[in-house]
Amino acid sequence: MNDEERRAELAESLRAVRQRLDAACAAAGRPAGDVELLAVTKTFPARDVALLTDLGLTAFAENREQEARPKVAELAELRPDAAPRWHVVGQLQRNKARSVARWADVVESADSPRLVEALSGAVRNAWDAGERTRPLEILVQVNLDEAAGRGGCAPAEVPALAELVATKGELDLRGVMAVAPQTTPADVAFDTLSLIAGRLRREFPEAGVISAGMSGDLESAVAHGSTRVRVGTALLGGRRLISP
Ligand SMILES: *Cc1c(COP(=O)(O)O)cnc(C)c1O
Repeated sequence: MNDEERRAELAESLRAVRQRLDAACAAAGRPAGDVELLAVTKTFPARDVALLTDLGLTAFAENREQEARPKVAELAELRPDAAPRWHVVGQLQRNKARSVARWADVVESADSPRLVEALSGAVRNAWDAGERTRPLEILVQVNLDEAAGRGGCAPAEVPALAELVATKGELDLRGVMAVAPQTTPADVAFDTLSLIAGRLRREFPEAGVISAGMSGDLESAVAHGSTRVRVGTALLGGRRLISP
């Protein structure tokens, strides 16, 4: 498929996703455009990200540092004027903090004090080395699964983790992120998240982001106050499975 064909395909799916978002906002009595669209570009090439910037998207998310780092660099070559914002949404190992501090604008998957310490130190180093000028935005990832899931801290751990982030000058606490567990209806999970987010916002008024909702459950997330949906499949198509 050449660039023009792929661009047309992406334009069509973007229109469909925006329509779903507008309808979800209307159904929830929220203004259209109330919810940010974050394109999850994992497993897709930098060319697709470039075409999405041509279509007006400015925020992209990746879940693996090894894949993201070269993609970020490639996009900067393909679209030097695009100035996209990159989000990390996957489980992040502390030894990847250094790399992430160089290219990420937001880490949505902060889920332990040790990771927060590593990110804060890494951003400090990147500042000192002139590799970065702005704080790293942080969302606390909440695990809404009864069983310990892959990533996210327990709801009870959110306040202390948020407090720690807030003490770091290199980090900007912005809100919460969650993935609806497969074992719980999405409405129940997102309702719980909204309560957790409300409590956090009372303590930290600037931490109002609720990153919730993916291709399959964005309507439910918007109904429960999501301010940012993370959409991969519905925009870019099906992902081929890749080994970790
Ligand atoms: C892959 C991924 C998404 C996007 O999922 P889709 O179902 O493809 O829209 C959202 N959030 C996280 C954390 C992801 O890993």
